[in-house]
Amino acid sequence: MITAGLAPRPPEPAMSLMMDAGEIDRSSTIRARHWHALDDGRIECDVCPRRCKLHDGQRGFCFIRARLGDELVLTSYGRSSGFAIDPIEKKPLFHFLPGTSILSFGTAGCNLGCRFCQNWDVSQARDSDRLTAHASPESIARIANATGCQSVAFTFNDPVVFLEYAVDSARACHDLGLAAVAVTAGWILPEARSDLFRWMDAANVDLKAFTEGFYRRLCGGSLAPVLETLVWIRKKTSVWLEITTLLIPGENDSDEEIEALSRWVVDSLGPDVPLHFTGFHPDDKMRGTSSTAPSALTRARRIAKRTGVRHAYTGNVDDPEGESTYCASCFELLIGRAGHAMTQWNLTPLGGCPACGEILPGRFEVRPGSWGDRVEGVPQRELVR
Ligand code: SF4
Repeated sequence: MITAGLAPRPPEPAMSLMMDAGEIDRSSTIRARHWHALDDGRIECDVCPRRCKLHDGQRGFCFIRARLGDELVLTSYGRSSGFAIDPIEKKPLFHFLPGTSILSFGTAGCNLGCRFCQNWDVSQARDSDRLTAHASPESIARIANATGCQSVAFTFNDPVVFLEYAVDSARACHDLGLAAVAVTAGWILPEARSDLFRWMDAANVDLKAFTEGFYRRLCGGSLAPVLETLVWIRKKTSVWLEITTLLIPGENDSDEEIEALSRWVVDSLGPDVPLHFTGFHPDDKMRGTSSTAPSALTRARRIAKRTGVRHAYTGNVDDPEGESTYCASCFELLIGRAGHAMTQWNLTPLGGCPACGEILPGRFEVRPGSWGDRVEGVPQRELVR
């Protein structure tokens, strides 16, 4: 059955994993925000709908939030699983500073347990060996600045679980005139959500499917809070929003589901929110499922456009037409792309269509960036400075 909207909200899935806190590196541990004590002596985390209830010494499902004594802590503050300099189109963000480079980083752990995770080595990491780089929020902003990036992405794993670190880093980015970008599944509770997005300039939110059954069965989560987050971002903030749906053969790729998802986006968020359909590659616990056929991505894009989504894209596939941006009024080519590289830039200095003048929604500069499709590591000298 296709989920039609925000109500009614089903019960959240029970927390299924709690581990002993064991040895925690106190040098990267800070008091967490968003939790409260329960009458039965446990502490409940108020960051995400899983609402882990912890005894002293236990970690939450995400592994990087834990109870130490009478407080909840984040155990990975200032520690990263790595850095990369990416084209911003790789996030994907197609309507936000096109052609520029973005400093990507993340920590470890995740509040969802997606069986198809394409970043499972980081998101499901249960050991601190993944957190190899020490980086304060100020040094992250400084590294981005020194390497010519215009923005920093909280990605690789969901910034929801390292909220305090992401927020402080986003503020440090703003201090240097850089933008902050959240790449997230949007499975977060309202108060924590306001905290996280207050300093964000753009977000790509995974809308993994449009049924509660998919979220429950394959992610151990739920759809309704994600829809609430999307509506809230769009209606209550100035954060630039794009959405990504990973199409998994036989799981979330029926015409009916894609049409329902697209219709909800148009009706609830408006037709200008870009929608990316990306291809699945067998990974993590779903190695028996085949890759998404390019034709399925093209079909999804057509359905979305027919339903009223003005800017629908394909991803993880060689499809210059599906990756390019066209005027929603007269269909003039505005931004040509091949993979993550820009091949054409036809926007006017005001960010409009040269043929009909229609303004393209998003954030654009007079001249696009020229980073291309390179993915580079961060020079060691920047990390140790
Ligand atoms: S953020 Fe982590 S500790 Fe908090 S409720 Fe979610 S999974 Fe549990």
